Amino acid sequence: MLNAYLDDFNLIRIETDKKISEYWLWNGQECFDYTLSKTYKLGESYVLEIYIEETWDFAKDYLIFNNFGEKNTIKERNIVRSLTFDDLFYYDGSLGSFYTKEKTSFKVWAPISREVLVVLNPNDGVKEDLTIELNRGEHGVYTGEALGDFADYHYVYVIKTHGEWSETVDPYGKYSLVNSTASAIVNPQSLEVASFDTTSYPIDKRFITDSIIYELHIRDFSIQDGTPFQHKGKFLAFTEKGLTLQDGTPIGLDYLKDLGITHVQLLPIFDFSSVTEFPFDQNYNWGYDPEQFDVVEGRYATNPYIPENRVVELKQFIQSLKESGIGVIMDVVYNHVYNYKSYAFQKIVPGYFFRFDEENKIIQGSGAGADVASERKMVRKYIVDSLLYWMKTFKINGFRFDLMGLLDIETMQFISQTLRAHNPYVYLYGEGWNMDTGIPESHRSTIDNAHLLPDIGFFNAYFRDIVKGSTFETTEHGLASNNIHFIGTSENLLKGCISHQFIQPIQSINYVACHDNYTLYDRLKFNADETQILAYQKMCFSFVLLSQGVPFLHAGDEFSRTKNGVENSYNSPDAINQIDWSLIHKNTSLLQFVKKLITIRKKFNALRFKIADEIKKHVTVFHDYHLIHYRIQDIQTFDKIDELYILFNVTNKTVTQYLDSTYQELLLEYDYTCYQEKNVVLLEPFTIKILIKGEILDD
Ligand code: CA
Repeated sequence: MLNAYLDDFNLIRIETDKKISEYWLWNGQECFDYTLSKTYKLGESYVLEIYIEETWDFAKDYLIFNNFGEKNTIKERNIVRSLTFDDLFYYDGSLGSFYTKEKTSFKVWAPISREVLVVLNPNDGVKEDLTIELNRGEHGVYTGEALGDFADYHYVYVIKTHGEWSETVDPYGKYSLVNSTASAIVNPQSLEVASFDTTSYPIDKRFITDSIIYELHIRDFSIQDGTPFQHKGKFLAFTEKGLTLQDGTPIGLDYLKDLGITHVQLLPIFDFSSVTEFPFDQNYNWGYDPEQFDVVEGRYATNPYIPENRVVELKQFIQSLKESGIGVIMDVVYNHVYNYKSYAFQKIVPGYFFRFDEENKIIQGSGAGADVASERKMVRKYIVDSLLYWMKTFKINGFRFDLMGLLDIETMQFISQTLRAHNPYVYLYGEGWNMDTGIPESHRSTIDNAHLLPDIGFFNAYFRDIVKGSTFETTEHGLASNNIHFIGTSENLLKGCISHQFIQPIQSINYVACHDNYTLYDRLKFNADETQILAYQKMCFSFVLLSQGVPFLHAGDEFSRTKNGVENSYNSPDAINQIDWSLIHKNTSLLQFVKKLITIRKKFNALRFKIADEIKKHVTVFHDYHLIHYRIQDIQTFDKIDELYILFNVTNKTVTQYLDSTYQELLLEYDYTCYQEKNVVLLEPFTIKILIKGEILDD
């Protein structure tokens, strides 16, 4: 056994099973000198560290021989993860394939590849194949052209790296054959959707705290048997209007519009690989297993065989939501890939795209695959290029970063800066969990480092667990579910946690449940009967929708969505994951209450302060033994009233509250705005009262 690795510009490590041997290094023309620095044992191998004077040429193959007749290619290893390598090879230009009717050109960043070919095959299998050799240029970028019209061809790169040939899709590919087997070339004209508004972002001038985010999965939304969706489980289900249950209750797109949410946040819609696009099995997956970051997933298209189809249908989906006043936020998973060994970037530049530990083992802090090394220059560029592609092509309003804590702070700052230059209203937020990965804690985009990312939002797990009760300790009650011990946290919660975790209210994503873990109903069910669950749910939604910050709802929780107690349903069948629209009837009271809260949130600007200073100036929160008092005062300039005074009774006792003067009570049980003059209010267990002082504005 004989292996040799270039670990720094002058350092080679030889790994062998022979204690004593002689070595020769060959640069293609001649043997070159080296100095032995040290030897040691690593497991069963002997390691020799040697230093070379030779200036390494990354376009050439270098070989090592020994006196036992063994030979091997010297492989670039740690060197690709050095800062010098990044400085030497960083390339700022566009990459991928570029179509015109006259020619298609290709650009691949492959600094340690010795040869790069592109192999083009016709989609119809009839026309001629074509192989083109690409030429190495500056920064390790290989380029070349195929002359003629290749709109109905697909291609792969065939690459010689580390002395071996391999084949891969284009990491910058935007179109794909079914099941991610090759990148496709398309004529951009065939992607045009006549009605698609390419100029503006939907609802583009709404401030971030004005958002009400609704998280859903494309398939869950329309897959239920017996519902009138024509395009069950597909993007196009969201273009179907006028759908109702048998009694005329609106469902689908009309339901979303009626509910009043401002944005949908979609579980992954980029190409993932845990379940196939064809044959279209009934297997289910959320899709947190990226294959091609810039390709639209084929499972949600009506015909994944036609590369253009998924792009066109995603545009139709977005346009339909946009026309209903709803923006689209995309869940992006740049922290890991499904299978790192077969991932395109890894095949082209082995060892560059991921994090490795000191023993050269790949780091898998995500628990779902190899951690992406966002801190490396070409990875950072790749992520930003990808986000810009989605944002500009599909007019995406915002991005939710999966396991954002694994991405480095500098990358998130660069993303924010770059994307905001295109759309100042873009909303960026993610999961700021602190997980072990190959960068120091101080560099991770975690909640603990939120002060370094004032433009970025974070899922507020503190809010979630205090309000609802611990996500993982299911016996624990929350502030909204009969745990008075948490009452001391109410000031922080209602003020967007600006004194505790965050510096601005846009940073606090206020939520109690999401696709992960139990649905709100299922979680509360551990400790409550049906009547209590209803009351607790109403309290949970009151905290989510009336607090300062950004409210976030998990689709269907507003009508007691259940997954029958399944906690992690990432690959559970439709029967568990689907939205059961019939629950609307069963849980009308909750749904009407949530709709009312949404209306109230939208009505009063003072519930949606933009900056921390406004909250500090106008909001007072205090509590006594039973009630939380949430007062927002001197708000003439925001809402033309003097004060909003919201009382939360978080106990199981009825409480009477005398008021210091006359207030108008906003009656919640009516689906229109209705007020009553009050000097005293009576709060039933687990209820809220909304009081107003000053002249009331008509809707
Ligand atoms: Ca796929």
